[in-house]
Amino acid sequence: MKILTTLSLLFAVSLGTLAQDRLADIAPIDRKMRAIDSISLVRLSEHEALADVQAPAASLYSTWENEYARVEQNNVPAEYKIDLRQFHMPCDSRLVTSHYGYRPSFRRQHYGTDIKVFVGDTIRAAFPGKVRVVKYERNGYGNFVVIRHPNGLETIYGHMSRHLCKPNQVVKAGDVIGLGGNTGRSTGSHLHFETRFLGQFIDPERLFDFEAQDVKGDFYLFRSNGRGTLLAATGNEPAPEEMMSEEVADAIQAKEAESQAFQQKKLQQMKAKPRTHIHKVKSGETLSSIARKCGTSIDRLCRINNIKRNAILRPGQILRYS
Ligand SMILES: [Zn+2]
Repeated sequence: MKILTTLSLLFAVSLGTLAQDRLADIAPIDRKMRAIDSISLVRLSEHEALADVQAPAASLYSTWENEYARVEQNNVPAEYKIDLRQFHMPCDSRLVTSHYGYRPSFRRQHYGTDIKVFVGDTIRAAFPGKVRVVKYERNGYGNFVVIRHPNGLETIYGHMSRHLCKPNQVVKAGDVIGLGGNTGRSTGSHLHFETRFLGQFIDPERLFDFEAQDVKGDFYLFRSNGRGTLLAATGNEPAPEEMMSEEVADAIQAKEAESQAFQQKKLQQMKAKPRTHIHKVKSGETLSSIARKCGTSIDRLCRINNIKRNAILRPGQILRYS
């Protein structure tokens, strides 16, 4: 992508200085240059398309690991054009329940956008990419997934009831990656959705209009000073899928088929498994009253939910009892 930008920039600059007076003479050269330019662009982007499946945005990120959402990156470019055109809504719901920014009631920063979903609602990949992290974080994101995308973004999906993807899985935009939930530090089921670029947070609502389920611009010009702007497509940018040779498309398809087979298997396993029984804590309830109500013991409740006997329950908390 970096090479692409440099190429087209060089082209634009050389054209700009030449085009002043001898327009007529230059026109044929211009066409010729364009032809050469587009051939090399096709080659480059084919190579990149294939590389992106294995290692998305590898020219930007120096590491790939499956443990942490956090990315330590020193050489963040001052500017980078992020292609948003392949966006897919991560859920069907359009209802934003909490915005990015400082939350006075919690006295801390909220680094994502909360979208209302119910337990079991389908959560989908917002862009094509490769799943980097699939984890559970009890006091934070709950069940969460991090996906790295060829456009340089990483997206994070938090508080899910289930993961339906595995680390290093290749996904298309719109592929199912999990189910909505209320896990981790969350009151009420919702999707916590984050967008990061090289570890730096970007307010998702600067990029996407969740109510319209669409992007706000074709591109987002990331600036490391935080003053990024939206850009419209100029028409010169090729759509990624139009630039692929059959060979590359086949390789990508094979990867996707593999990941879909995994997803199918996982869904079948889910159906085969007996349903987990859950209890939503109401105000005033205790472990002992819940154990009685659900026909189980306090010990069993503690064991299944990985909590202590003296754990403080909060209303809305979900406890498994079988
Ligand atoms: Zn949130």
